[in-house]
Amino acid sequence: MTTTPTIQEQPSGSSTQQPLIRLEGVTKHFPIHKGFFNRKVGDVQAVTGIDLTIFQGETLGVVGESGCGKSTLGRCILQLLRPTAGHVYLDDQDLTTLSNRQLRPLRRDMQMIFQNPYSSLDPRMTVGETISEPLQVHHLHKGPTLTKRVYELLDMVGLPRDAYRRYPHEFSGGQRQRVGIARAISLNPRFIVADEAVSALDVSVQAQILNLLGDLKKAFNLTYLFIAHNLSVVEYISDRVAVMYLGKIAEVAPAGELYHNPLHPYTKALLSAIPVPDPSVDHSQRTLLQGDLPNPANPPSGCRFHTRCPYVVDRCKQEVPEGIEYLPGHIGYCHRIPEINHLPHWPATPVN
Ligand code: SF4
Repeated sequence: MTTTPTIQEQPSGSSTQQPLIRLEGVTKHFPIHKGFFNRKVGDVQAVTGIDLTIFQGETLGVVGESGCGKSTLGRCILQLLRPTAGHVYLDDQDLTTLSNRQLRPLRRDMQMIFQNPYSSLDPRMTVGETISEPLQVHHLHKGPTLTKRVYELLDMVGLPRDAYRRYPHEFSGGQRQRVGIARAISLNPRFIVADEAVSALDVSVQAQILNLLGDLKKAFNLTYLFIAHNLSVVEYISDRVAVMYLGKIAEVAPAGELYHNPLHPYTKALLSAIPVPDPSVDHSQRTLLQGDLPNPANPPSGCRFHTRCPYVVDRCKQEVPEGIEYLPGHIGYCHRIPEINHLPHWPATPVN
Protein backbone atom coordinates (compact mmCIF):
# COMPACT_ATOMS: atom_id res chain seq x y z
CA MET A 1 0.00 0.00 0.00
CA THR A 2 1.48 3.34 -0.99
CA THR A 3 0.68 6.76 0.28
CA THR A 4 0.36 9.73 -2.03
CA PRO A 5 3.21 12.19 -1.75
CA THR A 6 3.03 15.91 -2.09
CA ILE A 7 4.72 16.54 -5.40
CA GLN A 8 7.57 19.01 -5.49
CA GLU A 9 9.44 17.90 -8.55
CA GLN A 10 12.99 19.13 -9.20
CA PRO A 11 14.68 19.46 -12.57
CA SER A 12 17.46 17.00 -13.31
CA GLY A 13 20.87 17.75 -12.00
CA SER A 14 19.81 20.59 -9.77
CA SER A 15 18.51 20.77 -6.29
CA THR A 16 18.91 24.51 -5.97
CA GLN A 17 16.71 25.91 -8.72
CA GLN A 18 13.92 28.13 -7.57
CA PRO A 19 10.33 27.64 -8.71
CA LEU A 20 9.29 30.44 -11.08
CA ILE A 21 5.79 29.23 -12.00
CA ARG A 22 3.69 26.95 -9.82
CA LEU A 23 0.36 25.46 -10.83
CA GLU A 24 -2.07 24.09 -8.28
CA GLY A 25 -5.11 22.24 -9.56
CA VAL A 26 -5.37 24.34 -12.72
CA THR A 27 -8.60 23.56 -14.51
CA LYS A 28 -10.14 25.08 -17.61
CA HIS A 29 -13.58 23.97 -18.79
CA PHE A 30 -15.36 25.61 -21.72
CA PRO A 31 -19.15 25.65 -21.42
CA ILE A 32 -21.23 24.11 -24.22
CA HIS A 33 -24.43 26.03 -24.98
CA LYS A 34 -27.23 24.67 -27.09
CA GLY A 35 -30.84 25.28 -28.08
CA PHE A 36 -33.09 28.28 -28.55
CA PHE A 37 -32.41 29.57 -25.01
CA ASN A 38 -28.69 28.93 -25.35
CA ARG A 39 -28.80 26.76 -22.26
CA LYS A 40 -25.57 25.28 -20.89
CA VAL A 41 -25.61 21.54 -21.59
CA GLY A 42 -22.11 20.57 -20.56
CA ASP A 43 -18.42 21.47 -20.52
CA VAL A 44 -15.45 20.71 -22.69
CA GLN A 45 -12.96 19.70 -20.01
CA ALA A 46 -9.85 21.00 -21.76
CA VAL A 47 -7.57 20.95 -18.70
CA THR A 48 -8.33 19.38 -15.32
CA GLY A 49 -6.47 19.59 -12.01
CA ILE A 50 -2.91 20.26 -13.23
CA ASP A 51 -0.20 20.47 -10.55
CA LEU A 52 3.15 21.47 -11.99
CA THR A 53 6.22 23.51 -11.10
CA ILE A 54 8.41 25.28 -13.65
CA PHE A 55 11.83 26.16 -12.30
CA GLN A 56 13.84 29.29 -12.98
CA GLY A 57 16.05 28.82 -16.05
CA GLU A 58 14.68 25.48 -17.22
CA THR A 59 12.85 24.46 -20.38
CA LEU A 60 9.83 22.35 -19.60
CA GLY A 61 8.51 20.57 -22.68
CA VAL A 62 4.84 19.65 -22.89
CA VAL A 63 3.84 16.89 -25.31
CA GLY A 64 0.67 15.03 -26.15
CA GLU A 65 -1.75 14.40 -28.99
CA SER A 66 -3.67 17.25 -30.61
CA GLY A 67 -6.58 18.24 -28.38
CA CYS A 68 -4.95 17.07 -25.12
CA GLY A 69 -5.01 20.59 -23.62
CA LYS A 70 -1.36 21.65 -24.08
CA SER A 71 -2.12 25.04 -25.60
CA THR A 72 -4.98 25.71 -23.19
CA LEU A 73 -2.59 25.04 -20.32
CA GLY A 74 -0.04 27.50 -21.74
CA ARG A 75 -2.69 30.18 -22.14
CA CYS A 76 -4.02 29.57 -18.61
CA ILE A 77 -0.53 30.08 -17.19
CA LEU A 78 -0.25 33.43 -18.97
CA GLN A 79 -3.83 34.28 -17.94
CA LEU A 80 -4.76 34.77 -21.59
CA LEU A 81 -7.47 32.29 -20.61
CA ARG A 82 -8.67 32.56 -17.05
CA PRO A 83 -8.70 29.13 -15.35
CA THR A 84 -12.07 27.81 -14.20
CA ALA A 85 -10.41 26.63 -10.98
CA GLY A 86 -6.98 26.35 -9.40
CA HIS A 87 -4.08 28.74 -8.93
CA VAL A 88 -1.15 29.94 -11.00
CA TYR A 89 1.72 31.47 -9.05
CA LEU A 90 4.47 33.61 -10.55
CA ASP A 91 7.07 33.61 -7.78
CA ASP A 92 4.62 33.76 -4.85
CA GLN A 93 1.98 35.90 -6.49
CA ASP A 94 -1.29 34.20 -7.36
CA LEU A 95 -2.12 35.46 -10.86
CA THR A 96 -5.65 34.05 -10.78
CA THR A 97 -6.70 36.55 -8.11
CA LEU A 98 -5.52 39.60 -10.07
CA SER A 99 -7.67 41.80 -12.29
CA ASN A 100 -6.63 42.47 -15.88
CA ARG A 101 -5.39 45.89 -14.77
CA GLN A 102 -3.29 44.38 -11.97
CA LEU A 103 -1.91 41.80 -14.40
CA ARG A 104 -0.72 44.38 -16.92
CA PRO A 105 2.70 45.13 -15.34
CA LEU A 106 3.31 41.40 -14.79
CA ARG A 107 2.73 40.70 -18.48
CA ARG A 108 6.21 42.09 -19.09
CA ASP A 109 7.57 39.03 -17.28
CA MET A 110 5.55 36.49 -19.27
CA GLN A 111 5.38 36.39 -23.05
CA MET A 112 4.28 33.99 -25.76
CA ILE A 113 5.68 32.82 -29.09
CA PHE A 114 2.84 31.70 -31.33
CA GLN A 115 2.62 28.71 -33.61
CA ASN A 116 1.96 30.17 -36.99
CA PRO A 117 4.40 32.88 -38.09
CA TYR A 118 2.21 33.51 -41.13
CA SER A 119 -0.92 34.51 -39.22
CA SER A 120 0.48 35.73 -35.89
CA LEU A 121 1.95 38.93 -37.41
CA ASP A 122 -0.24 41.84 -38.54
CA PRO A 123 0.36 42.12 -42.31
CA ARG A 124 -0.35 45.89 -42.20
CA MET A 125 2.45 46.63 -39.73
CA THR A 126 6.13 46.79 -40.63
CA VAL A 127 8.54 44.60 -38.70
CA GLY A 128 9.75 47.69 -36.83
CA GLU A 129 6.20 48.59 -35.78
CA THR A 130 5.47 44.98 -34.76
CA ILE A 131 8.51 44.73 -32.50
CA SER A 132 8.18 48.23 -31.05
CA GLU A 133 4.47 47.91 -30.21
CA PRO A 134 4.91 46.19 -26.80
CA LEU A 135 7.66 48.67 -25.88
CA GLN A 136 5.30 51.55 -26.58
CA VAL A 137 2.35 49.94 -24.79
CA HIS A 138 4.47 49.56 -21.65
CA HIS A 139 5.97 53.07 -22.08
CA LEU A 140 9.53 51.71 -22.03
CA HIS A 141 11.08 53.56 -24.96
CA LYS A 142 10.21 56.28 -27.39
CA GLY A 143 11.82 58.25 -30.21
CA PRO A 144 15.42 57.35 -31.12
CA THR A 145 15.89 55.00 -28.13
CA LEU A 146 12.89 52.99 -29.33
CA THR A 147 14.43 52.62 -32.80
CA LYS A 148 17.78 51.71 -31.25
CA ARG A 149 16.14 49.05 -29.10
CA VAL A 150 14.37 47.52 -32.12
CA TYR A 151 17.68 47.39 -34.02
CA GLU A 152 19.24 45.61 -31.02
CA LEU A 153 16.41 43.07 -31.03
CA LEU A 154 16.79 42.49 -34.79
CA ASP A 155 20.50 41.81 -34.20
CA MET A 156 19.72 39.39 -31.36
CA VAL A 157 17.38 37.26 -33.47
CA GLY A 158 19.63 37.32 -36.56
CA LEU A 159 17.57 39.58 -38.83
CA PRO A 160 19.10 42.35 -40.97
CA ARG A 161 18.48 45.92 -39.81
CA ASP A 162 16.73 46.79 -43.06
CA ALA A 163 13.93 44.44 -41.88
CA TYR A 164 12.76 47.40 -39.77
CA ARG A 165 10.88 49.02 -42.66
CA ARG A 166 9.73 45.87 -44.41
CA TYR A 167 6.46 43.96 -44.10
CA PRO A 168 5.95 40.33 -42.91
CA HIS A 169 4.99 39.07 -46.39
CA GLU A 170 8.51 39.89 -47.59
CA PHE A 171 10.01 37.25 -45.26
CA SER A 172 10.18 33.48 -45.11
CA GLY A 173 8.46 31.47 -42.34
CA GLY A 174 11.67 31.17 -40.31
CA GLN A 175 12.37 34.90 -40.58
CA ARG A 176 8.80 35.72 -39.53
CA GLN A 177 9.19 33.49 -36.52
CA ARG A 178 12.35 35.43 -35.67
CA VAL A 179 10.21 38.59 -35.73
CA GLY A 180 7.77 36.90 -33.33
CA ILE A 181 10.65 35.95 -31.05
CA ALA A 182 12.06 39.51 -31.15
CA ARG A 183 8.65 40.81 -30.14
CA ALA A 184 8.38 38.24 -27.34
CA ILE A 185 11.79 39.11 -25.84
CA SER A 186 11.45 42.88 -26.36
CA LEU A 187 10.20 43.44 -22.79
CA ASN A 188 12.96 41.35 -21.18
CA PRO A 189 10.56 38.64 -19.97
CA ARG A 190 11.53 35.97 -17.49
CA PHE A 191 9.14 33.32 -18.78
CA ILE A 192 8.10 32.46 -22.34
CA VAL A 193 5.45 30.03 -23.53
CA ALA A 194 6.46 28.75 -26.98
CA ASP A 195 3.31 27.17 -28.38
CA GLU A 196 4.23 24.88 -31.29
CA ALA A 197 6.79 27.56 -32.17
CA VAL A 198 8.55 25.51 -34.85
CA SER A 199 5.76 23.18 -36.01
CA ALA A 200 4.93 25.19 -39.14
CA LEU A 201 8.56 25.43 -40.29
CA ASP A 202 10.77 23.27 -42.51
CA VAL A 203 13.03 20.86 -40.63
CA SER A 204 16.25 22.78 -41.38
CA VAL A 205 14.64 26.04 -40.28
CA GLN A 206 13.27 24.35 -37.14
CA ALA A 207 16.84 23.57 -36.08
CA GLN A 208 17.89 27.20 -36.55
CA ILE A 209 14.96 28.51 -34.50
CA LEU A 210 15.57 25.93 -31.75
CA ASN A 211 19.22 26.97 -31.58
CA LEU A 212 18.19 30.63 -31.44
CA LEU A 213 15.81 29.89 -28.55
CA GLY A 214 18.62 28.02 -26.78
CA ASP A 215 21.06 30.93 -27.26
CA LEU A 216 18.51 33.47 -25.99
CA LYS A 217 17.77 31.29 -22.98
CA LYS A 218 21.43 31.23 -22.02
CA ALA A 219 21.96 34.93 -22.72
CA PHE A 220 18.94 36.16 -20.72
CA ASN A 221 18.38 33.30 -18.24
CA LEU A 222 14.95 32.68 -19.73
CA THR A 223 12.53 29.99 -18.62
CA TYR A 224 10.49 28.26 -21.33
CA LEU A 225 7.34 26.22 -21.46
CA PHE A 226 7.84 24.56 -24.82
CA ILE A 227 4.63 23.06 -26.20
CA ALA A 228 4.90 20.70 -29.17
CA HIS A 229 3.53 17.47 -30.55
CA ASN A 230 6.88 16.53 -32.11
CA LEU A 231 8.61 14.38 -29.50
CA SER A 232 12.07 14.67 -31.08
CA VAL A 233 11.91 18.46 -31.05
CA VAL A 234 10.84 18.45 -27.39
CA GLU A 235 13.66 16.06 -26.45
CA TYR A 236 16.20 18.30 -28.18
CA ILE A 237 15.27 21.49 -26.34
CA SER A 238 13.83 20.42 -22.98
CA ASP A 239 15.37 19.88 -19.56
CA ARG A 240 12.20 18.18 -18.32
CA VAL A 241 9.14 16.94 -20.15
CA ALA A 242 5.49 16.69 -19.09
CA VAL A 243 3.27 14.32 -21.05
CA MET A 244 -0.41 15.27 -21.23
CA TYR A 245 -3.39 13.12 -22.07
CA LEU A 246 -6.94 14.41 -22.34
CA GLY A 247 -6.43 17.45 -20.13
CA LYS A 248 -4.35 15.77 -17.43
CA ILE A 249 -0.67 15.10 -16.79
CA ALA A 250 0.33 11.48 -17.36
CA GLU A 251 4.04 11.68 -16.57
CA VAL A 252 6.74 14.27 -15.77
CA ALA A 253 10.45 13.51 -15.83
CA PRO A 254 13.86 14.86 -16.80
CA ALA A 255 14.02 14.68 -20.61
CA GLY A 256 16.73 12.00 -20.88
CA GLU A 257 15.02 9.86 -18.25
CA LEU A 258 11.59 10.14 -19.86
CA TYR A 259 12.81 9.23 -23.34
CA HIS A 260 14.95 6.28 -22.20
CA ASN A 261 12.88 4.99 -19.32
CA PRO A 262 9.21 5.93 -19.79
CA LEU A 263 7.04 4.55 -16.99
CA HIS A 264 3.50 5.43 -18.06
CA PRO A 265 1.77 3.26 -20.70
CA TYR A 266 0.72 6.35 -22.67
CA THR A 267 4.28 7.71 -22.83
CA LYS A 268 5.52 4.27 -23.91
CA ALA A 269 2.96 4.25 -26.72
CA LEU A 270 3.83 7.79 -27.82
CA LEU A 271 7.55 7.03 -27.92
CA SER A 272 7.15 3.73 -29.70
CA ALA A 273 5.22 5.54 -32.45
CA ILE A 274 8.32 7.58 -33.38
CA PRO A 275 9.60 6.18 -36.70
CA VAL A 276 13.14 4.78 -36.48
CA PRO A 277 14.99 4.94 -39.84
CA ASP A 278 16.87 1.70 -39.20
CA PRO A 279 15.66 -1.57 -40.80
CA SER A 280 17.59 -3.65 -38.23
CA VAL A 281 15.48 -2.28 -35.35
CA ASP A 282 12.90 -4.77 -34.04
CA HIS A 283 9.47 -3.13 -34.24
CA SER A 284 7.56 -6.13 -32.84
CA GLN A 285 7.58 -4.71 -29.29
CA ARG A 286 5.85 -1.50 -30.34
CA THR A 287 2.84 -0.41 -28.30
CA LEU A 288 0.27 0.81 -30.76
CA LEU A 289 -2.48 3.08 -29.50
CA GLN A 290 -5.94 1.88 -30.45
CA GLY A 291 -8.81 4.27 -31.15
CA ASP A 292 -9.06 8.04 -31.02
CA LEU A 293 -8.75 10.50 -28.16
CA PRO A 294 -12.07 10.34 -26.24
CA ASN A 295 -14.43 13.31 -26.27
CA PRO A 296 -13.19 15.87 -23.70
CA ALA A 297 -16.82 16.85 -23.09
CA ASN A 298 -17.39 13.36 -21.72
CA PRO A 299 -14.02 12.02 -20.55
CA PRO A 300 -13.67 8.42 -19.29
CA SER A 301 -14.05 7.85 -15.54
CA GLY A 302 -11.07 6.99 -13.34
CA CYS A 303 -7.89 7.03 -15.40
CA ARG A 304 -8.69 8.93 -18.58
CA PHE A 305 -6.41 6.66 -20.56
CA HIS A 306 -8.27 3.48 -19.59
CA THR A 307 -10.25 3.18 -22.85
CA ARG A 308 -6.98 2.81 -24.82
CA CYS A 309 -4.60 1.30 -22.29
CA PRO A 310 -3.35 -2.27 -22.85
CA TYR A 311 -2.83 -2.70 -19.07
CA VAL A 312 -6.31 -1.60 -17.91
CA VAL A 313 -7.89 -3.32 -14.87
CA ASP A 314 -11.15 -2.58 -13.06
CA ARG A 315 -9.50 -0.18 -10.60
CA CYS A 316 -8.39 2.04 -13.49
CA LYS A 317 -12.03 2.64 -14.47
CA GLN A 318 -13.01 3.81 -11.00
CA GLU A 319 -10.07 5.60 -9.35
CA VAL A 320 -8.26 8.64 -10.69
CA PRO A 321 -4.51 7.91 -10.37
CA GLU A 322 -2.53 10.28 -8.15
CA GLY A 323 0.95 11.53 -9.06
CA ILE A 324 3.71 9.53 -7.38
CA GLU A 325 7.44 10.15 -7.65
CA TYR A 326 8.70 6.68 -8.56
CA LEU A 327 12.27 7.69 -9.40
CA PRO A 328 14.07 10.97 -8.57
CA GLY A 329 12.16 13.72 -10.38
CA HIS A 330 10.15 11.12 -12.30
CA ILE A 331 6.44 11.32 -11.54
CA GLY A 332 3.79 9.06 -13.01
CA TYR A 333 -0.01 9.10 -12.81
CA CYS A 334 -0.90 5.43 -13.20
CA HIS A 335 -2.02 2.74 -10.73
CA ARG A 336 0.14 0.04 -12.24
CA ILE A 337 3.53 1.64 -12.91
CA PRO A 338 5.43 -0.59 -10.41
CA GLU A 339 4.07 -3.83 -11.94
CA ILE A 340 4.34 -2.74 -15.57
CA ASN A 341 7.92 -1.55 -15.13
CA HIS A 342 9.08 -4.19 -12.61
CA LEU A 343 10.32 -1.49 -10.25
CA PRO A 344 12.49 -3.46 -7.82
CA HIS A 345 12.34 -1.32 -4.69
CA TRP A 346 8.68 -0.37 -4.74
CA PRO A 347 6.84 0.49 -2.54
CA ALA A 348 9.39 3.07 -1.49
CA THR A 349 9.12 5.99 0.86
CA PRO A 350 7.41 8.80 -1.03
CA VAL A 351 9.31 12.07 -1.35
CA ASN A 352 7.66 15.17 0.05
FE1 SF4 B 1 -3.46 2.11 -17.89
FE2 SF4 B 1 -4.68 1.76 -15.55
FE3 SF4 B 1 -2.31 2.96 -15.67
FE4 SF4 B 1 -4.44 4.19 -16.59
S1 SF4 B 1 -4.08 3.63 -14.47
S2 SF4 B 1 -2.49 4.09 -17.58
S3 SF4 B 1 -5.60 2.50 -17.46
S4 SF4 B 1 -2.76 0.83 -16.18
